[in-house]
Amino acid sequence: MTIQWFPGHMTRARREIEAKLKLIDIAIELLDARVPLSSRNPMVDDILKGKPRLILLNKTDLADARTTDKWMAYFADMGHTSLAIDASTGTRVNEIPVRVKQLLHEKIARQISKGITPRAVRGLIVGIPNVGKSTLINRLAGRAIAATGDRPGVTKGQQWIKVGTEMELLDTPGILWPKFEDQHVGMKLAMTGAIKEQVINVEEVAFFAVKELTKRYWDSMSERFSLTNPPKDYDDADEIVRVMEDIGRKRGCLVSGGRVDLEKASGIILRELRAGNLGRITLESPEDMM
Ligand code: GDP
Repeated sequence: MTIQWFPGHMTRARREIEAKLKLIDIAIELLDARVPLSSRNPMVDDILKGKPRLILLNKTDLADARTTDKWMAYFADMGHTSLAIDASTGTRVNEIPVRVKQLLHEKIARQISKGITPRAVRGLIVGIPNVGKSTLINRLAGRAIAATGDRPGVTKGQQWIKVGTEMELLDTPGILWPKFEDQHVGMKLAMTGAIKEQVINVEEVAFFAVKELTKRYWDSMSERFSLTNPPKDYDDADEIVRVMEDIGRKRGCLVSGGRVDLEKASGIILRELRAGNLGRITLESPEDMM
């Protein structure tokens, strides 16, 4: 289910996170490594208000490794510690407690100097829907705790999950909303599968995808779909549709009269993109912001 956000939802989501922030030492902000900007809540700095924070770039198995490195350097420049992980297989997930402790070492040292035995550090995972919060919670817990997929408004007693001996995590994540008033953000989230099929126009998203992918990853596209003619002008809609038709023909998406079934071709493009069949793809790089 996709959350249909309206101002009331945002206010409630914010209040829920603010209540949870009172209980924790550190926020763990989860982003999608393929779209670190579009998967980021526009008000996150304000909402987390100076809480120590670890930024995680998730789904790195699907993202372009070189660009993921650039994002980590970008976040370091902004004064943030970040880590590139893959929650679905658990790659580098075991480094999370280590980084969390490093980020909180001053606080822990202060407690020790006052003669207080430090308790386990407490964390909260925050992020937009479908970024992998539940998958990560389950991975850190070593068992199924959080239901994957979003369930807005379901309240239940909160529990602490032990992650090793020195860290605890709230079992329910903080759900943030994306910057969906920006059309490109919506398109990129739809491309990556964060916004579900039922609420999007498949052809419109595939059009956007073909435009972005032929521009950024022509070699992967031409190899996967045996294409020979890149668009001559990326801003020429006819050229992008022509490439979509080329893909459709290669995949036998034809209707009577030999016309290409664009809807079917669009479905194939998006499915293969999301499954990682077009290779590891990142749609945003820090350079885009300059
Ligand atoms: P949530 O809404 O933030 O709790 O997201 P979920 O944990 O439900 O994950 C959304 C989808 O992303 C699920 O289909 C997960 O299997 C998938 N997913 C989560 N983490 C990763 C990852 O690191 N790599 C890949 N390929 N898929 C992931």
